Amino acid sequence: MTYNELKSEENKYVMNTYGRFPIALDHGEGATLWDVEGKKYIDLASGIGVNCLGYANPAIIDAIDKQAHKLMHVSNLFTTEPMVQVAKKLVEKTHLGGKVFFANSGAEANEGAIKLARKYSFDKYGEGRFKVLTLINSFHGRTVTTLKATGQERFHNYFFPFTEGFDYAVANDIKSVRAKADDMTCAIMMELIQGEGGVLPLDREFVKEVEKLCREKDMLLIIDEVQTGIGRTGSLFAFQQYDIKPDVVTMAKGLGGGMPIGAVMAADTCCNVLTPGTHATTFGGTPIVCSAANVVLDTVGDGQFLMKVREKGEYLRNGILSLGSPNIKGVRGMGLMLGIIVEEGKHSVFANKLIENGVLAITAGKNAVRLLPPLTISKEEMDEALAIMAKVF
Ligand SMILES: *Cc1c(COP(=O)(O)O)cnc(C)c1O
Repeated sequence: MTYNELKSEENKYVMNTYGRFPIALDHGEGATLWDVEGKKYIDLASGIGVNCLGYANPAIIDAIDKQAHKLMHVSNLFTTEPMVQVAKKLVEKTHLGGKVFFANSGAEANEGAIKLARKYSFDKYGEGRFKVLTLINSFHGRTVTTLKATGQERFHNYFFPFTEGFDYAVANDIKSVRAKADDMTCAIMMELIQGEGGVLPLDREFVKEVEKLCREKDMLLIIDEVQTGIGRTGSLFAFQQYDIKPDVVTMAKGLGGGMPIGAVMAADTCCNVLTPGTHATTFGGTPIVCSAANVVLDTVGDGQFLMKVREKGEYLRNGILSLGSPNIKGVRGMGLMLGIIVEEGKHSVFANKLIENGVLAITAGKNAVRLLPPLTISKEEMDEALAIMAKVF
């Protein structure tokens, strides 16, 4: 089908909940994609930071194929090897200790973390210590609870009543966090680089101070690494570059290399809080998805691979800055999570122009063109993208 034919059927049969770009994608290889009409794109979005090993990765295809022939799904009433392996790799490679719970998405991972924090506090202090503090301009998901956890007023609409027990502090302002963290607060949840909010990295000192405050008041420090995790920032998790030890780390996007998965990793401080009957999900940790996650962790968890991510991030950042375009006000971010800063409100104009010219990019916040390319992107693909950016910017 052509794009126009597909689009008219989509309009007829699919709920109109996304402002989609006007192309229909068909297949890909590495960081290169083709649409249904055969037009080629360099992909600097990777499905919002999901396809970390690129498209048609032979190791992932092979793992999924082998696992599909053995067992795709069995429910969480039984133990399976791929699931146990993923958990072991996460715990060992982060040196966090602790244990993992598997979910299916970022929002579901964050819901799990919120439940964990509330039960941690309930078990220890009884009722009333339920508040979760998040940061203004954050993004934590689209369920009724994680929308409320999201520190942006525009998300708190239509779906009333939202889950109670959330409050918001100003990012990079420890006084604001101290003022908001009261006797009812059981956890502070934050992204280390606000992704959706505009690719805004938190200050190191601020993050250290938040960690200290959490220890003082026995609040759990939940780091939402749904976007920053799995090598995106040049370390397996961003928290490793902030020199902190979170109680809970949530992840999703990159973990399955394109397969839907989310996870809550809890350190020794709280990894036994959720017990049989208190939390569950039908598809969590299903073998077919974990077979892909195992390949992702074996690949991305390697020091050489992560060094290359940092080098590619610098190459892309320098390449963009040296375009010397007056439309580019700067580049924010870490590793291969970058935001090209443009005039406020112009980010979607540039993203659309990039797509028209053969580069897939997305937007973030009020003024960022967000780049989250596959971590495996080649120098040739980056150069091709930079040449197109030179034209567009
Ligand atoms: C994408 C994202 C989420 C939500 O993940 P879903 O898989 O879409 O539910 C949560 N937190 C952060 C930081 C994200 O980037």
